[in-house]
Amino acid sequence: MTVFDDLVGQDQATAVLSRAATAAGEVVAGGRGAGMTHAWLFTGPPGSGREDAARAFAAALMCRDGGCGHCDQCHQVLIGSHPDLESVRPEGLSYSVKQTRELILRAAGAPTQGRWRVILFEDADRATESAANALLKAIEEPPPRTVWLLCAPAPDDLMITIRSRCRMVNLTTPATEAVAHVLATRDSVPWDTARFAARAAQGHISRARALALDEGVRARREAVLSIPRSLTGVGECVSAAERLVKTAEEEAAAATALLNDSETSELRKLYGEGSTGKGLNRGLVRGGAGALKELEDRQKSRATRIKRDSLDAALLELVSFYRDVLTMQFGAAGVELANDDIRFDLDQLAKSSTPEETLRRIDAIMQCRERLAANVNPQMAVEAMMLALRP
Ligand SMILES: [Zn+2]
Repeated sequence: MTVFDDLVGQDQATAVLSRAATAAGEVVAGGRGAGMTHAWLFTGPPGSGREDAARAFAAALMCRDGGCGHCDQCHQVLIGSHPDLESVRPEGLSYSVKQTRELILRAAGAPTQGRWRVILFEDADRATESAANALLKAIEEPPPRTVWLLCAPAPDDLMITIRSRCRMVNLTTPATEAVAHVLATRDSVPWDTARFAARAAQGHISRARALALDEGVRARREAVLSIPRSLTGVGECVSAAERLVKTAEEEAAAATALLNDSETSELRKLYGEGSTGKGLNRGLVRGGAGALKELEDRQKSRATRIKRDSLDAALLELVSFYRDVLTMQFGAAGVELANDDIRFDLDQLAKSSTPEETLRRIDAIMQCRERLAANVNPQMAVEAMMLALRP
């Protein structure tokens, strides 16, 4: 067993990373280690496991055996507690230059325990321009034992000056069967549930796992997929939009609540106030109020990002519905449907509309995604989309 076993359907990337880990071991032993690079860029569609691959590589760098998967070093990397691995994600909608500069300072230190100091930079495409420039300087002149692992959906998402200094690892969307196999064998999911979840998630492993194991996630998917048949009039469109936006808000609230509470009480302790005191600023020592305000701003911006991601996931679910309809309209034999479990709904719409109409609907959803990314009011953007989806 190695740390790379968990990467589903990524044989090519795994081969590159294993070789690099061996080269990295040679460097540690004082050799040249041809094939080892200080900056890596992991790209691949959402759900292909960019962060998982980067984390496995980090373990392979720290481990004496190139990522055995069971030693202390591997274990600490995999559970995220290794002192020489810094894993960062944007605090809000993007990486600020401040967050990035702080990170670069920490990255400059020599490894304290492991063989390398590894910075896992998730969602590198979310770096602001000034943050990206700071990052570029750090990558251009890396300390001898620092390795940067950047993750982004596609190489084009990063400035060319950054990506030209990185070695690329491209991950692909794993086949449905491979994902189902992992769920069935590793998570003990019954085979039929595993196949359903893998198909519905379209190669998105963590999504497939959530669908297989979490009833709430399945219920939300059903609610989203029931939208197309509910759009019988203008009133229905408006209320469908309301429901969709509200669900995204609830999901974001649940995801952030726990995180926020522990961060806030931690900060208050730091500034000398009991975490149970009433009134946010009472009793905080000087400087505390400002820090608390800053933390609240960051939490607010993180909540906005999670809400946006969750809404976007629902819209992609809708796209998969209409793509299935289109597949049926073209009578494409042998193409598997993502939403085979609601074949009846798909079939009805496929028969009662034309491929042109289906394409127009997919366009409307994509346009809505663009508008949301451009900060249009969610209710307004989603409402306009629902009206365009109406038969
Ligand atoms: Zn190990």
